Amino acid sequence: MPNTERSSSILIAEDEESLRETLKLNLELEGYEVTGVENGPDVLKMVKNEYFDLIILDIMLPEMDGITVCETIRMQHNDVPILFLSARNTGKDRVEGLKKGGDDYLTKPFNLEELLLRIDKLIVKNKRIREPQASGMDTYEFDGCLIDFAGHECRDKDGAMQELSKKEAALLKLLIEHEGEVVSREQILQIVWGYNVYPTTRTIDNFILNFRKYFEQDSRNPRHFHSIRGIGYKFTK
Ligand code: CA
Repeated sequence: MPNTERSSSILIAEDEESLRETLKLNLELEGYEVTGVENGPDVLKMVKNEYFDLIILDIMLPEMDGITVCETIRMQHNDVPILFLSARNTGKDRVEGLKKGGDDYLTKPFNLEELLLRIDKLIVKNKRIREPQASGMDTYEFDGCLIDFAGHECRDKDGAMQELSKKEAALLKLLIEHEGEVVSREQILQIVWGYNVYPTTRTIDNFILNFRKYFEQDSRNPRHFHSIRGIGYKFTK
């Protein structure tokens, strides 16, 4: 399923069952794919294995509070939008939540319509940031190699033509469009794979190994395709 047709996915972390189920139902009615969990550690488990467009995070959660959960997610270089829900309405709580990496904050009891508006805003904003600039780039040359994105082929370091799979061409394009910048694993999976459920980490690694075979003079000391441990991948010319 192409990324553009995929409905947005939301993770709700809320230990009050009735509130969690009400939210889930209402968000599903809005067309979102919704997963509910009831404690902090389960949030961390979920975000490790799946991509979410947004997390609704209650602050008072069993085992690990929402603020610590948010802080942990940010330490893992994951910038999924996070909207805090809290029963406490103190300025301190709000500031603390936003400081630890939250994007928005709503106090219980809240107005459902307001929540839906805020969710929509956060998801749209995040998608705009993530979407690659539509570029008219058809081919790209570097270090004696040539990539033909549309034709799904490349001329490798030895001057031989190699076929590229659709995903290989898409990943090359994404990395090259962000030349000199680290592209996160999460971003790659969302843009190139476009599925909610992640393939394994090794999947991207294997693609990068292939790129090194094609384009690097010495694939053990890559000059162009770099893995940044725990963060993502980077292309340099
Ligand atoms: Ca709670």
